[in-house]
Parts: sequence; structure tokens; C-alpha cells
Amino acid sequence: MTKSTEMADFTDQLIGICGAAHVLTGDEIEPRYRRDWLGLYESHPLYVVRPDSTEAVAAIMKACAATKTPVIPLGGNSGLTGATIAGEAEGILLLSLERMNQIRSIDGDGQVMIAEAGCILENLHKAADQAGLMFPLVFGAKGTAHIGGALGTNAGGLNVIRYGNARALCMGLEVVTASGEVMDLLPALKKDNTGYDLINLMVGSEGTLGIITAATLKLVPRPEAYATAMVVVPDVSAALKLMNFVQARTGGRVEAFELFGQLMYDLCVKYLDHITAPFSYSPPLSVLVEIAAGSAEDAKTDADGKLALTQQFEDILGEAFETGIAEDAVIAYSETQRRNLWTMREDTLDAMQRHGNWLLSDVSFQVSDLPGAIADLEAAFAAIAPGPFCIAFGHMGDGNLHSCARPFDEDPADHPAEAAAIKQALQDAVVKWRGSISAEHGIGTDKQAAMRELKDPVAYEMLKSIKTALDPDNLLNPGKLLM
Ligand SMILES: Cc1cc2nc3c(=O)[nH]c(=O)nc-3n(C[C@H](O)[C@H](O)[C@H](O)COP(=O)(O)OP(=O)(O)OC[C@H]3O[C@@H](n4cnc5c(N)ncnc54)[C@H](O)[C@@H]3O)c2cc1C
Repeated sequence: MTKSTEMADFTDQLIGICGAAHVLTGDEIEPRYRRDWLGLYESHPLYVVRPDSTEAVAAIMKACAATKTPVIPLGGNSGLTGATIAGEAEGILLLSLERMNQIRSIDGDGQVMIAEAGCILENLHKAADQAGLMFPLVFGAKGTAHIGGALGTNAGGLNVIRYGNARALCMGLEVVTASGEVMDLLPALKKDNTGYDLINLMVGSEGTLGIITAATLKLVPRPEAYATAMVVVPDVSAALKLMNFVQARTGGRVEAFELFGQLMYDLCVKYLDHITAPFSYSPPLSVLVEIAAGSAEDAKTDADGKLALTQQFEDILGEAFETGIAEDAVIAYSETQRRNLWTMREDTLDAMQRHGNWLLSDVSFQVSDLPGAIADLEAAFAAIAPGPFCIAFGHMGDGNLHSCARPFDEDPADHPAEAAAIKQALQDAVVKWRGSISAEHGIGTDKQAAMRELKDPVAYEMLKSIKTALDPDNLLNPGKLLM
């Protein structure tokens, strides 16, 4: 059989599984499949296929295993590490889960939902809300990212401090293996000590070990009210003290604690026309803090419409002012004001991109090491090149920094030496403080070399053995994560 006959047979097989409208090749492949979210990479899949059931995914994987066709599972394509990029001449089949977008069930008593991999996060939020509950995995790309992709990267986001990351919210999985078998671990068992934890293994594996087709997700009681404020702090140590102070005063009801360096604040105010600047000046360092009601009493309003919880938060912040760990604050007195603060945080990446390209980081440190690590990085970045940079930005409660830099305020691609020095400075800080080079975005292609260099060598070899055992022909997202 010639190569072109083989390919025609394979294409026919795919069409038989998905229908002709959902097997795309050549010019039929839309631009959205040909680039990553940041526009940094071009992708060259040979096929894009869009199955609508687990059985179809399994049949595709069987066909791919028989023909040794490599497969990249694709979610919302909002990942930031080049993990869904198909190289030229790799003959990659991009398997988009977008049509697998059904919520199979919501169990109010068990407080879980079973959702197919292609469900967009925002739709899961709405469905949980309608059931009087909450699915707390939230981040800027919530209107685009799929739950399959969020589990594939073990995404974190804005509420990890209270509810944990994607891994912590995943109680069960249905996965199609490299050979096209279906592994059903969907039951929401809180206790299951039957050997290795395969659910945890799949979460964060970036499509290299299996294709997630459905997940059982933990839901939580929906807080009856929130109190939210942007608080100006004198420095990072004070921010850390403030975080612990608010946690202690509220019995651990801090939902989010997001660090805002001055540059990020200024970029949001400059580029986001749809937000109102919280302060009349540009604070050198601030934090977005949100606490949740712990009881119905907290959600009661006074004659002026002020929430009891907001009063409680005002009192807490008043004490913080007295001890000097906070200097100023803007408290949200309405849902509109609260949304304004959150929109600012969620759209920060948009604001940055409107300014130009940046070198972004996603590093993490032990929370108590943040003041030292941030000071080290600020000194290192300042010594490398003039130009805007901001280290103190990100999910402080998780020790996670999304620092950014633009040497000479120009595209980092035009300054490769400075860009390399900045990446090195980040790695050096990670080594010195024993942090991580990837807090939540994963490894993809961007951080493969750094991971190879920095991961404990015994652990790295163990990861490779797992990959070989589960995907001996290296069909699943080849060339990503591990080298
Ligand atoms: C504006 C913005 C803000 C962001 N904020 C955050 C944040 O705060 N926290 C955070 O963690 N991330 C954040 N991200 C990164 C990104 O949104 C997440 O990594 C997200 O989880 C990716 O989901 P996706 O569906 O787009 O996955 P994709 O980008 O499509 O895929 C990501 C990885 O998962 C794999 N994958 C996709 N679907 C499956 C599946 N069904 N089975 C197995 N593997 C699969 C892919 O092969 C790839 O390796 C942000 C991105 C943007 C654009």
C-alpha cells in the first residue's frame, strides 16, 4: 500500500468515527488551531478531529496507535507554554475535545458534578451556581479554557488559597489511554487506597499520558456574600503579615489574595477602558483581598445596605492600618465595585499585551520566602537592563509570581541576551530558594530545558519511566514536558 493510499484509508476511518465535518485537513484547518493564545507559536497539525463521545476518542486513539500517528489533545488552547503546538512535518493529529461539552450529572447531596472534558469553565460555574453550589476554579481564561485543559495543566488561578488547584478539585476521571482503552475512575470516592493514584498522575500530565474525556469535580457551598478590597501595603513582608492577619481574623475565609505591583496597576489603569481606577494615585504595592461570609449573619445588610461582612472587613483593615501593615484601602460597597476590582485583576494580561510583548514568568516559592525572593529578583532584573519590570505580581497566597519584564521597553525578542539573562535570574532565584519554575502553567515546550536541568534527577528519570510505560510509542503529545 502506498503512503497516500494509507493516508486516505486513515482519513476515511476518522471520517467514519467523527463525520466529515469534524475531520479537517489542509486549508480546512481554521486559524484558531494554527496558533497559540499568545501568538508566539505557529502550529502545523496534519489533521484536526472533533469527536463527540468517549467511544469516538477511543476509536481515534486505536486508529492512531495502529498507524503510529501522534496526537495532541486540545482544549481551549489558552495554555501559555506552547504545549499544544504541532511542529511542521510531525504529522500530528490535533484532537479537539470541544464537542464533548456536556455536564453529565450534578449531585447536590454529594456536592460533585461530572463534566465532559470540553466544558468551558465558565459554563461549569453557571451550572454549579444554578444548583446552589460553586465550582471554585477561576482564572482569566475562564471563558475559553476547558476543564480537560485545566486538568491537563493542573491550573490554579485566583481562589487556590481557599479551595486548592485543579488537582484538589478533581475527584475522578475518565481517560482514554494511548492504546485506545477507556479507564473509568469517575466515582467520587473521598477515600480510595487501592494503589498508585492514577487520577493525580493524569492531572498535570499535559496530554502526554492519556486523554481526559470526563472528570468528576468537587463543588463547594456558595458563600452568601463577599467583602472585597484593594489594599495598599508598604512592602511584601507587610503584605504577608496582612494575609495571615486577615486569615486569623476570619477563621481562614480568605478567598483570594492577589499581589499588584505598581507596573501592573498602572498598565490596567492605562489600557483597560472598562475599569475605574480604584485609587486617585498609583500605589507602589497593593493587594486585592477577598473574604467570604461564614454565616447568614455575615450576609445581612444594615439600614444603609452595608453588609455585616463588609463592616467586619472594615474593622479588620482598621486594625491593620494601626499596626502599619496596611496604608490605604478601597473597599467594594456594591457588586459593581467588586466586579471592577476583579475585572482589573482578570484582565491584567490583556492590559499587558496591549502595551506589547513581555517576558512572563510563572514561578513559585514557599510563601514565607516571597519577600527575600522578590528582593533578589528585583535587584537582578534592574541590573540586567533598564525598562519596565514587575516582580511582585500574582497569587501571593500560593507563593506564585507572574513577574514580567520588557528590556528597554521593547519586544524581548529583539533583546535576546537580556531576555536570556532575565530567564537565568529567575532560574537562579528558584534554585537559591528551592522554588518551582512552573507554579501553574506547566512545562509545554517553553520550560523543558529548565525542568531537565532543575528537577531532582531521580524524580526526572521516574517521570520518564512512567511516560515510557504508559505510552511506549510516544504518541501522546510527543516532544512536550519531558526531553
Ligand atoms: C488570560 C489568561 C489567564 C490565565 N490565567 C491562568 C491562571 O491564573 N492560572 C493558571 O493555572 N493558568 C492560567 N492561564 C493558562 C491557561 O488558561 C490554563 O493552563 C488552562 O488550564 C488551559 O486550558 P485549555 O483548555 O485552554 O488547555 P489547552 O491550552 O488547550 O491545553 C493545555 C494542555 O493541556 C492538554 N490538554 C488539553 N485538553 C486535554 C484533555 N482533554 N486531556 C488531556 N490533556 C489535555 C494539552 O495537550 C496541553 O498540554 C491563563 C491563560 C490566559 C490566556
